[in-house]
Amino acid sequence: QLNQMILHQISRRGLFCSRLHAHLRKPRQDMTRPSSDLAAFRDIFSKAKKIAIITGAGVSAESGVPTFRGAGGYWRTWQAQDLATPEAFSRNPSRVWEFYHYRREVMLTKNPNPAHLAIAECEERLSKQGREVTVITQNIDELHRRAGSKNVLEIHGSLFRTRCLTCGHEANNYKSPICAALEGKGAPDPHTQDAQIPVDQLPRCEHKGCHGLLRPAVVWFGETLDSRILTKVEQVMDSCDLCLVVGTSSVVYPAAMFAPQAAAAGIPVAEFNMEDTPATMSFKFQFCGPCGTTLPPALARHKTEPE
Ligand SMILES: [Zn+2]
Repeated sequence: QLNQMILHQISRRGLFCSRLHAHLRKPRQDMTRPSSDLAAFRDIFSKAKKIAIITGAGVSAESGVPTFRGAGGYWRTWQAQDLATPEAFSRNPSRVWEFYHYRREVMLTKNPNPAHLAIAECEERLSKQGREVTVITQNIDELHRRAGSKNVLEIHGSLFRTRCLTCGHEANNYKSPICAALEGKGAPDPHTQDAQIPVDQLPRCEHKGCHGLLRPAVVWFGETLDSRILTKVEQVMDSCDLCLVVGTSSVVYPAAMFAPQAAAAGIPVAEFNMEDTPATMSFKFQFCGPCGTTLPPALARHKTEPE
């Protein structure tokens, strides 16, 4: 457990990924290519009682949600890893709030895509058959919930939750703008000046007259995951009989943490993403392409299911 916690911390900083990457790059003659036989996947899917679906940035990207990571992924002159840290927030809470305000407002213009909808529809349909679908997502945009998914573990929190730095109270918050001082702020253009909002005009706690400074309830770089959510993820992964990895390379956290373990335990793992990853070879299935295209036919009603 302790080792796992350390790995979680390290992997938030990206070190674990590169190490795993190197390890998996070694030639593995015992491995055969994963199957892309949809009928074979569908046969296993039709018998699965508990399905874990791990989703990542690729699913959000197909809805046009910016991630501020990788080539071209900038807000002003920064990337997510520069601003999504406790240090950045304590140095300049106004700037970090501008960044998150912008991301919240952008979400008002984005919608769940066919991959989100296929997952939600599958969960609802299978629940009527006494079968369970759980989404484990690193995405903080709530698009799975908006698509109708109910069993969602948001391991990195949500753009639409806040946590008070004084009393610790967490609350959902869908206000637009989140506070008056942020109205019209947060423009992503690199020449935009910092709004330099006084800290007492940033979002403040409304719980029992506390008035403490709020922060986004998301897991920042260098922070540990919520242990209650982690425990739930472990329960889901321990009891699932089919695992899907969607829109994330399986060497990138969190899929890197959970999916290879499941595969090693003999659970069939199916990867839905745009390209091969070094972890691909350890999985039973791989379906290449946009997940909005590959996922709906994979999760559609099987002929053995009731009408
Ligand atoms: Zn408070």
